[in-house]
Amino acid sequence: MNGTVIIGAGQAGVQTAVELRAAGYGGSVTLLGAELALPYHRPPLSKAYLTGEKGADALLMRGPSFYSEQAIALHQGADVIAIDRASKSVKTAVGRRFGYDHLVLATGASARPLGCPGADLDGVMVLRSRADTEALKLRLEAAARLVVVGGGFIGLEVAASARKLGKQVTVIEMQDRLMARAVGPDVSSFFAEVHRQNGVDLRLGDGIAAIAGRNGAVSGVRTSSGVELACDIVLAGIGVSPRTELAEAAGLSIANGIVVDSAQRTSDPQVFALGDCASFPNPYGDGMIRLESVQNAVDQAKIVATGIMGHQARYQAVPWFWSDQYDLKLQMVGLSHGHDHVEERGNRADRRFSVFYVKAGRLIAIDSVNRPADHMRGRKLLAAGAPPITPDEIDTHFAARRDT
Ligand code: ADP
Repeated sequence: MNGTVIIGAGQAGVQTAVELRAAGYGGSVTLLGAELALPYHRPPLSKAYLTGEKGADALLMRGPSFYSEQAIALHQGADVIAIDRASKSVKTAVGRRFGYDHLVLATGASARPLGCPGADLDGVMVLRSRADTEALKLRLEAAARLVVVGGGFIGLEVAASARKLGKQVTVIEMQDRLMARAVGPDVSSFFAEVHRQNGVDLRLGDGIAAIAGRNGAVSGVRTSSGVELACDIVLAGIGVSPRTELAEAAGLSIANGIVVDSAQRTSDPQVFALGDCASFPNPYGDGMIRLESVQNAVDQAKIVATGIMGHQARYQAVPWFWSDQYDLKLQMVGLSHGHDHVEERGNRADRRFSVFYVKAGRLIAIDSVNRPADHMRGRKLLAAGAPPITPDEIDTHFAARRDT
C-alpha cells in the first residue's frame, strides 16, 4: 500500500493530512511542499507579519514536532514536477518518486503578475508567500512611497499596513469601487472613505499604464488616465491564478481551476483537489465556483479525508471570509451575487454595521463590519439553508437590531 500523497503544504494540504489522521487513516501520509519553511498561515502576511506585530513563530500552523508525531511525512523544498497517473506516482525536481493510492492536489494559487511595460523592474512586487512579505517588509524600511495596484483584499490590507508603518500610499483600482468581487457597493464606499481618512491616495476607475525606472529600479508609475506618480515600490494586488499546470499536464479536466465534483474528486477518481486550485459545483447556485479562503480549504479537507476513507461526502459548507484593515474587522458570509434587496443595520458612524443581502425574499449573504455576532449568527442561519427573511425578522434574529 502506497497511502496518500498530498501536493502542496498550504492550509488545504496540511489540513487534509490532519483530517486523515483524525479519521483514523492507517496508510502513509506524504505531504510535499515546495517551500523550505514549515507550513504557515497566510492571512497575517499582509497584516501583522508585514507590520512586525507578529513574528515568524506566530505564523506556523503547527510546531516542528507535530508532523512526525502524527506520522505525516512532511517534505519541505519538494517541488513536484510531474504526475504519472498510469504508474500512480509523482516526481520531484530532484528526481524523487512517490507512489500513491490516493493523490491530493492542494497546489493553491499564484499572484497574477502585472503585464504593463516596466513590470520587470526591481521593486515591482507581489504578496503571496512568506518570502514575498519578508522582501516587501525589507524594502519598505528604506522606502517612502508605495503604489498598490488593485483594491481587493490583498491590496487594501497592504495599504493599511503600510500606512501604519508611516509610508505614503496610493491605491489604483480599475473598477469604480473597492473589493467589488466580494462585497456590496455600500461596504465598498465605506471602506473607500476609511482609507481616505487614513491618508491613502485612492484612485478608483484607473489602471496602471506603465512603470518607470531609473537604473533598473522603480521610480514611478503612469496610470491609464495619464497621472504620473513617483514611488519606490509597486505592489501588484490584482488577484491570483489557480495553479493547475501539474493537473493539466496529467490530463485532468481544468476550467478556472482543477474541476472536481461535490466530493472533491477530479476527473480521475483516485485524485482529489481542494482549496484555491479547485473549481467545484456551487451548492448555492448554478455552475462551478472557485473560492480563495481559509474556510474553503479547511472544510474541503474534511470532505477529501472522508472520501479517501471510502465514505460518501458532499461539500455544502457556507462560504465565509474576513479581512482586517485598520481597526475594522470585515466579515463576510454567503455569496451576495444576484441579490435583489439590501437591508442595513447598525451604525456606520460608530464603524459597526452589517449589510444583509436578500434574493427572492431569502437571506443569501451578510457583510459585517465590527459586528462579529451578526456574522456568527448568519453562519448558523445560512448553514441551515437560505432562510426566508423579512426586515422584521432581520431585527429579531440579529444582534444589530434597532440601534440605527
Ligand atoms: P486579492 O484577493 O488577491 O486581493 P481580488 O480579486 O480580491 O484579489 O482583487 C484584485 C483587484 O484588482 C480587483 O478589485 C480588480 O478590479 C483589481 N485589478 C485587476 N487588475 C487591475 C489593474 N491592471 N489595475 C488596477 N486594478 C486592477
